[in-house]
Order: sequence, then structure tokens, then C-alpha cells
Amino acid sequence: MMASPNTRPHVDLADVSKWYGREPVRVEALAGVDLQLDAGEFAVVLGPSGSGKTTLLNLMGGLDRPSGGRLRVAGRDLGSLSDAELTRYRREHVGFVFQFFNLVPTLTALENVLLTAGLVEAPRDAERLLDAVGLGERARHFPGQLSGGEQQRVAIARALVKNPSLILADEPTGSLDSEIGARVLELLRRLARDEGRTVVLVTHNEALTRFADRLLRLRDGRVVEDRRRPRAGEGPARR
Ligand code: ADP
Ligand code: MG
Repeated sequence: MMASPNTRPHVDLADVSKWYGREPVRVEALAGVDLQLDAGEFAVVLGPSGSGKTTLLNLMGGLDRPSGGRLRVAGRDLGSLSDAELTRYRREHVGFVFQFFNLVPTLTALENVLLTAGLVEAPRDAERLLDAVGLGERARHFPGQLSGGEQQRVAIARALVKNPSLILADEPTGSLDSEIGARVLELLRRLARDEGRTVVLVTHNEALTRFADRLLRLRDGRVVEDRRRPRAGEGPARR
């Protein structure tokens, strides 16, 4: 999988809107969003409940289509892809970490990650990823034997094992408020910084913005703040 050329943003939204239902009960979830994210950027999205955060992630991840505007990822115009092409895009390019992690209960943590690894040609090493999210000792445990936060970290390993160019995490706060959460965030940041992945993390936790290169705030389906954060003080010396 090739990264998109540096001359182009990896994610490019132009006047993207999304509405649900129809008049008189039409809900405008996104109202003309312009947004460009480069390969290697780690963006944190903040905003009150109902402001359109999940809708934004679902569109970027190809789970849903925009109602208006243009949305490109890695040079593909997602709005013009067929269902089959969109499925393929999701499978090859996108790592999702959902609020609810949907692990297969009859498979171990490692098997859950391997199941997803089997979808792509060049997966990362599943055991090393479980190690990296602090679950090396738990790889042979079943989801029912793991805490909620541990299950969520399995879900994060599962999202990363595909080596996706775009990593989308929707409020994975449960496991990220802890010390291990900081490790997971460092891992995501490294994937962005060192490997050119684009990471978009939706959260309520303002403290997590310290990991971000980019801070986006949504309100009523609009981007009301878009700030680049300096990388100073977060240099490579830290581990
Ligand atoms: P957030 O993730 O920031 O809480 P959402 O993107 O889930 O916001 O929702 C944005 C708006 O769109 C809300 O008003 C929500 O009620 C509405 N919405 C989201 N999904 C649907 C849907 N499938 N059908 C109807 N309305 C929806
Ligand atoms: Mg949401």
C-alpha cells in the first residue's frame, strides 16, 4: 500500500455535508466541512455530543457516504466508489477503533487480531502489537476473561494489524485514561510521526490533546476550531 503523494493531503474534505432523514425531520449532522489532513498527522477531534464527530469518522472510514461535497482519501473520491470498492477501501486503508469493540468471544485476543490480519497482504506482527498495547501476557485469553479496557486494547491492536494508512478511533477513552492508555497513545503517535499514518481520535478528554498535532473542534456539524499544535517538547528523546 502506497502512501498518497506528499503534494496532496491524505484526507481531503471539501464542503462535505451529511444529513439523515428528510424534511420536515431532516437532521443535518455535518454542514459544509472543509478539512485537510496530511499523512503523518495525528488529529484530535473534540466537540459536544451530537456535534457530528462520529458522522465525520464514518464518512472518512467509508462506512457511510456524504450527502454533499467531496471527500477524498489517498486520492480516492469516496463518494463515487461502488459498495464493493468502498468495502475494499475500508479493508485496505482504514483501521477503526469503535466505542464498542465487537471482539469475537470464542476467539482469544491473539486470534481476534489474527482474524483481521488475514484480510490484508502485509499485516503487522500480531503478537508484537499485543505486546505494544500492554497485553503480551494476555494474548491467549478470551475476551470474557479480559477487562473492558483490555478488550479495547485488543480492538486497537486489531485496528493496527492491517497497517492502515488511516486510523480512526471513536472515543476509546475507557482504556486511554490510564497509564497504559498513555502507552497506546504514544504508539499511535509513533505510527503517525514515524510511519506516516494519519490518525484521527475523537475524545471527550481534553488532556489527550497533548498527543495531537492538530486540534479540531466541532459544533453543530461545523468545524469551529482547527489548530495546529507545535511538536516542540515532544521530541524523539521520549520513550
Ligand atoms: P457525535 O458523535 O458528535 O455525538 P453524531 O455524528 O453521532 O455526533 O451525530 C450528529 C447528529 O446526527 C446528531 O444530531 C445525531 O442525532 C444525528 N444522527 C447521527 N446518526 C444518525 C442516524 N443514523 N439517523 C438520524 N440521525 C442521526
Ligand atoms: Mg459519537
